Amino acid sequence: MGRRFIVLLGPPGAGKGTQAARLAQAAGLAHLASGDLFREHLSRGTELGKVAQAYMTRGELVPDDVTTRMIAERLAQPDAATGAVFDGFPRTVAQAEGLDRLLAEHGERVQRAVVIDARREELVRRLTGRWLCRECQTPYHQTSRPPRVPGRCDGCGGELYQRPDDTVEVVERRLAVYEDQTQPLLAWYERAGVLARVDGERDVEAVQRALARAIAS
Ligand code: ADP
Ligand code: ADP
Ligand code: ZN
Repeated sequence: MGRRFIVLLGPPGAGKGTQAARLAQAAGLAHLASGDLFREHLSRGTELGKVAQAYMTRGELVPDDVTTRMIAERLAQPDAATGAVFDGFPRTVAQAEGLDRLLAEHGERVQRAVVIDARREELVRRLTGRWLCRECQTPYHQTSRPPRVPGRCDGCGGELYQRPDDTVEVVERRLAVYEDQTQPLLAWYERAGVLARVDGERDVEAVQRALARAIAS
């Protein structure tokens, strides 16, 4: 059996991180989140982190070559031996081509690309109310998914924080960047015959079930 690769597409706030963690856990795959990787580099103060920071602060995309190299490195780690759920990558057609090339080296390919989507008002509501665990990156929401103990992660007890790019102004920019640069990927994966869509506005468990069906079919 070869490795399995699933791509989660969708605008910021659609629920990719929430669903990718659950799916990876259930399917025994690595959860590969480009945003989390960049934030980890940033907090470690690496060169890559310094390059990425300026883009992230503005809500723009980090250059494709830098991003694809980071993913290639991450894919070589042992927990990706069974495959991966990509969350937030690829985000441009050039990145999708890069990923295809990377997988083709081992005769592998993306099995399914699933778009999770929601209306703009809901995306803004979710992002501006989002809190994340500093330790394990689990997302919470101040009203939709509050933690049991305020300010603490249910899973690991880590401290919760709000991302500096989850302000209304930066969110507007990120949504525009998604429409411009990432939407074209839908047609790309549609042509490859691997695209599926899931309504992201239902509750987390309903989205999880729909996603499981989408990748099984
Ligand atoms: P993304 O990774 O696509 O940006 P997240 O998974 O971080 O999205 O979710 C964004 C915010 O929306 C978080 O605060 C999360 O708790 C909340 N959220 C995720 N899925 C749902 C859902 N189905 N219904 C309501 N809120 C959700
Ligand atoms: P979201 O919750 O919006 O899905 P992410 O955590 O995935 O946010 O991404 C945060 C930021 O990290 C992006 O605004 C961008 O600056 C950078 N980033 C993440 N993934 C990519 C990518 N695949 N290509 C370029 N930049 C990326
Ligand atoms: Zn945690």
